[in-house]
Amino acid sequence: YQIKKAGRNGIRRFDAALDAELERTILLTREFQFALSRDQLSLVYQPIYDLKTGEMSKIEALVRWSHPEFGAISPGVFIPIAETSGQIMAVGRWVLEQACFQARHWRENHGWAGKITVNVSPVQFAQPTFVDEVKQTLLLSGLPAHRLELELTEGAVIHSPTLVQTALRGLQRLGVEIAIDDFGTGYSSLAYLRDLPIGCIKIDRSFIEDLASPRRAPQYAVALITAIVGIARTLDLQVVAEGVETQEQVDAVRGLGCDFAQGYFFARPLDAARLEALLDSGQPDLNAGWHQRLN
Ligand code: C2E
Ligand code: MG
Ligand code: MG
Ligand code: MG
Repeated sequence: YQIKKAGRNGIRRFDAALDAELERTILLTREFQFALSRDQLSLVYQPIYDLKTGEMSKIEALVRWSHPEFGAISPGVFIPIAETSGQIMAVGRWVLEQACFQARHWRENHGWAGKITVNVSPVQFAQPTFVDEVKQTLLLSGLPAHRLELELTEGAVIHSPTLVQTALRGLQRLGVEIAIDDFGTGYSSLAYLRDLPIGCIKIDRSFIEDLASPRRAPQYAVALITAIVGIARTLDLQVVAEGVETQEQVDAVRGLGCDFAQGYFFARPLDAARLEALLDSGQPDLNAGWHQRLN
C-alpha cells in the first residue's frame, strides 16, 4: 500500500535508505567481531541513589564501544548486532566479569557497601549455562551474590517463560537480585511480577520525562508512577526512577514514593576512575545539584 502510494521514486528512495542502513549494519557487525579482542570495549558506571538517605546504593554498569575510526557507537546500536551475531555471549560474560571485579574492588578498598547492577540480554538469559556462569564469575571475583543485581527487560521475561523461570529461580538460590528494566514500556504483565523472584522495578525514563514535559500533561505521569509504586508496594518490590534530570523530577519521584533515582541530575555514566573519585568524596547532598560538580 505504502509502496504503491509512493510511486517509483518513492521505491527507489526507500531502497536506497534501506541499503545504507543494511550496509552500516553489515559493516558494524564485521567490525564488532574484533571489538573485544582489540580492547575497544569498556564499562562506564552510573550511580543509583537512595532517595531517603542519599547513599549510593547501587551502581549500574553500562558497556561502551569505541571504534578507532567510527568513534563511540551507542549500545542501542551494537547490542542488537551482538545479539544477532551471537557475540553477546562473550560480551555479556566479559561485562559481568569486569563489573563484579570492579564492585569487589570498590567494596574492599573504597568502603562502598552497595550493589552492582548489570544488564543482561534475553539471549544470554536463555542459555541453560547462564546461572552457572554467573556463579563462576561470583566465585572468581569474590563478590558476594547479594551484591549483584541483574537487569532484565520485560520482553525477556515474557518471551521464553519456562527457561527464564528456571534461570530466575537458579539466580534466586544463588542470592543474586533481579530488577526489571524499562518497566512500563514492554508487555507488562502483573502475573510475572507476582510469580517470579523479582526484587526491583526500574520505571522507564519516558515516564519521568513526562513529569516535567510541557508537551504532555504531567498529571498522567503522576498517576502512572503512583500506580506503579502502588503495585511495587503491594508486591514488596523496590522502585528505581530512571532518567532523572532535574531537581523537580527528583522532588516529584521522591514525593511519589520511589525508593531510588538514577539520572544525569546526579551523575552521568562515569569511567571507573571518576566513579571512584566520587565514592571517595563522600555522600552527595541530593538537593544541592551535585551534577554541576560532576559533569
Ligand atoms: P538501560 O539499561 O535502561 O540504561 C539506561 C540508559 O539511559 C543508559 O544509556 C544511560 O546512559 C541513559 N541515561 C541515564 N540517565 C539518563 C538521563 O538522566 N537522561 C537520559 N536521557 N539518559 C540517561 P546507554 O548507556 O546508552 O545504554 C542504552 C541501553 O543499552 C541500556 O539501557 C541497556 O538496555 C543497553 N546496555 C547497556 N550496557 C549493556 C550491557 O552491558 N549489556 C546489555 N545486554 N545491554 C546493555
Ligand atoms: Mg581504587
Ligand atoms: Mg539497565
Ligand atoms: Mg532502563
